[in-house]
Amino acid sequence: MSPTPKAKSYWLGSEPYHPRHPLHGSISAGVAIVGGGLTGLWTAWYLTETAPELDVVVLEAESIGSGGSGRSGGIVSPWSTIGLSDLVAAIGAERALSMHNSLCAAAGEIENVCLRAGLGCDIDEVAQLVVATNPAQRTHIEADFATARDLGLDAVTFLDRDALSDRVVSPQFLCGVEFHPAYTLNPAKLVRGLAKALDDRDVAIYEDTPVDRVRKGHPARIATPAGSVDARQVVFALDAYSSGFRTMRSRQVPLYTYVVLTEPLTDAELESVAWLGRQTICDRRNFRRYFRLTRDNRILVGGPKPQYHFGSRVDEKYDRDDAAFAELESVFRTVFPQLDSVGFTHRWGGALSVTSTLVASFGTHDEGNAHWAYGFAGNGLVLSNLAGQVIAARCRGDETFGIELPFARSALPWLPPEPVRSGFVRSALNELAVQDESWDAGAPYDGEALLRRVGRVLG
Ligand SMILES: Cc1cc2nc3c(=O)[nH]c(=O)nc-3n(C[C@H](O)[C@H](O)[C@H](O)COP(=O)(O)OP(=O)(O)OC[C@H]3O[C@@H](n4cnc5c(N)ncnc54)[C@H](O)[C@@H]3O)c2cc1C
Repeated sequence: MSPTPKAKSYWLGSEPYHPRHPLHGSISAGVAIVGGGLTGLWTAWYLTETAPELDVVVLEAESIGSGGSGRSGGIVSPWSTIGLSDLVAAIGAERALSMHNSLCAAAGEIENVCLRAGLGCDIDEVAQLVVATNPAQRTHIEADFATARDLGLDAVTFLDRDALSDRVVSPQFLCGVEFHPAYTLNPAKLVRGLAKALDDRDVAIYEDTPVDRVRKGHPARIATPAGSVDARQVVFALDAYSSGFRTMRSRQVPLYTYVVLTEPLTDAELESVAWLGRQTICDRRNFRRYFRLTRDNRILVGGPKPQYHFGSRVDEKYDRDDAAFAELESVFRTVFPQLDSVGFTHRWGGALSVTSTLVASFGTHDEGNAHWAYGFAGNGLVLSNLAGQVIAARCRGDETFGIELPFARSALPWLPPEPVRSGFVRSALNELAVQDESWDAGAPYDGEALLRRVGRVLG
């Protein structure tokens, strides 16, 4: 039996959960979705909205949301993880703006569905603060702000140190930009709320049902330990777990990332931070450190240097990393020294997928009836919704929906096989970490972020 959801994150463990039963026997389906995270569930959602005649099944190896979706920080942000100025430099102003607008629309769509369908996932519209903790990051943030202005994005405000300290009190924050919109939510409640809504729409969700093999064809034949599905269309909604399937192993890598969570703050502690707008906060490092408040006034901290494991392995044994937890706790103490007596109650981690171009990828395999979406990096909450909309359209035979998006590239460059791959990925991660350290030590921003260079080299 799979581990209980409790082991995986604070969110998954906060409420009792009774998984649905596994698949036993042979069935057929219009669309079989492999993976019961947000991508799989959003795809099923949009299929039931737009093509209710298609019978849809979801096959989940463990329990719904036990991958990145139920372990995430619960931050829904359309603001690119690589930063606006780097994004424009990488893909051009027009495509960057179209990507940004579609992500803003997807973020708003998530809120609409959550409220309309009563998913009860504690969603709150906040804003996102991107802050500088050293002079190089300040230069970078000024470039982001100028780019936002050039693109005509007016929901962006530059905050000098004083203005920023009116939003949140930290001796580390030198200046920042505030972006709208962004949302916080409870990701376990979102996946479980969506799954329940899909039950009501007669989508068959099987948990504890790992897919062992998918044989191409019309229909495709999907094998699970105690059953099989003959499916007219297959959706691989696996993000970091895509590496378990040969066709997707060479296009993306799973990287492990971690978060820690404090105990609930007292009123006096909250007052000392004066974080009244409850914005999500991240800094402008290559490996962003991010912070959010939960509904019960805990602070979640995430974002140490991610870890790659040889052979693109995804394994429960990597879910915990004491060095990463210690780093995050120390970051918290530096950023909020006024909270030095606040303790940590939860620590967890999980894998997310990064493509060779650092941009997510949605697409359809050559045989025409198998679709994928992966490579969401740190923006999976918003991207999984967009991916669900695009993949649902593909399943309905609409090849044009979302085709203008940079994510809808049909072919990504290959990553080299092992052992070259791990050398390559680890040295890229190390270089990015070294650049972060040099910025902390006072080195100036050199006008071109390494993250962008890495994406270009890989892509
Ligand atoms: C610690 C952490 C914090 C994060 N914080 C944020 C955040 O604040 N904001 C944000 O936007 N993004 C965040 N992310 C990234 C985000 O969580 C992911 O990008 C997103 O949830 C991916 O959703 P998904 O449905 O594509 O994949 P997943 O949620 O990983 O779902 C894939 C599912 O497939 C299942 N599976 C695996 N193998 C098989 C198989 N053979 N057969 C059947 N099922 C299988 C898995 O059990 C899993 O449930 C974070 C990720 C982590 C790990």
